[in-house]
Amino acid sequence: MTPFGFQLLATDTATAARRGRIQTRRGVVETPMFMPVGTQGTVKGVLPEALVEAGAQIILGNTYHLYLRPGHERIRRLGGLHRFMHWERPILTDSGGFQVFSLGQLRKISEEGVAFQSHIDGSRHLLTPELSIEIQQALGSDIIMAFDECIPYPSERSYVDRSTALSGRWAARCRQAHDRSDGSALFGIVQGGMYEDLRRRSADELRQVGFDGYALGGLSVGEGAELMYEMMEFGLPLLPVDQPRYVMGVGTPENLVEGVARGADLFDCVMPTRNARNGVLFTSFGKLSIKQARYRDDDRPLDPECDCYVCRNYSRAYLRHLFQANEILASVLNTQHNLRYYLKLMADIRTAIETGCFATFRADFHRRRQPEDGAVA
Ligand SMILES: [Zn+2]
Repeated sequence: MTPFGFQLLATDTATAARRGRIQTRRGVVETPMFMPVGTQGTVKGVLPEALVEAGAQIILGNTYHLYLRPGHERIRRLGGLHRFMHWERPILTDSGGFQVFSLGQLRKISEEGVAFQSHIDGSRHLLTPELSIEIQQALGSDIIMAFDECIPYPSERSYVDRSTALSGRWAARCRQAHDRSDGSALFGIVQGGMYEDLRRRSADELRQVGFDGYALGGLSVGEGAELMYEMMEFGLPLLPVDQPRYVMGVGTPENLVEGVARGADLFDCVMPTRNARNGVLFTSFGKLSIKQARYRDDDRPLDPECDCYVCRNYSRAYLRHLFQANEILASVLNTQHNLRYYLKLMADIRTAIETGCFATFRADFHRRRQPEDGAVA
């Protein structure tokens, strides 16, 4: 079994961008990389073969959803999540914390963990750091995330202080509970809200415990792009240079380019898949809403620069028709394109860092993007 590891292949001279390679027991992940989100044991609307064609090397699975349905023990009995969903490449699982905390009135936090009621049948559960690790290991996750509280924005400093301290104690319990013998890796998550000193304290505590990689959590929660960039700029250098750095729940194509410029290696977000189902498509010129009447007779591909199956074979007019007619294929094709756009963007970023022209790439990227729906000119 290949042990988990990270190799730094190149660093940009003008920015903090890095080109790296994560080694997992199920193969390598070239970084910077974006992870499509597969909430319920599927990236919605995409066959695994199409994910590979889009360039996906790793996907994200959701602990909370799979624990409640169909159950982690069942998935373990059926050979693990990879076999269950027919995805052989690496999987990173979240800890379930984010979903549990989103339940609002249905949950209660204590030192031990979070008591909550299922959104499916109202049944009562207690998710602890130990149970979160147990679920993720039963699923067969390659990169396991520590259980923490994703702090809402805005939050009072005293709340952020207490919550971050609790997440730190939970992180140490996760480290204790994690059985490394299966070759899986465990990442710690830096919290601290928008307070630099609390972020620093959180990063220090996690580094003392020692993890295989580190994430910045609690970003992209409504704080706005400028503040998010500030927190990345402050937070990423607090993490070890020789280990992977993951910015959770981020983001737009612009956020990815700017995150890379500040030293991030991994990202995940529902944006390309969820927006696709709503008819919002990403192109090299910016966003495009396919339901608009102006595409009715538009025979051009979605994005003339995209090499995906959709852009090679279908017109904007056809995609608009499918969307208006509420056809299943609209979601399938739109998702295929959006994922390819995101993953090609990451591949282009990697090439740019390798060839020493990331700064030029970044400037071109921003210059070419037009206000929403400017893509049609
Ligand atoms: Zn395309």
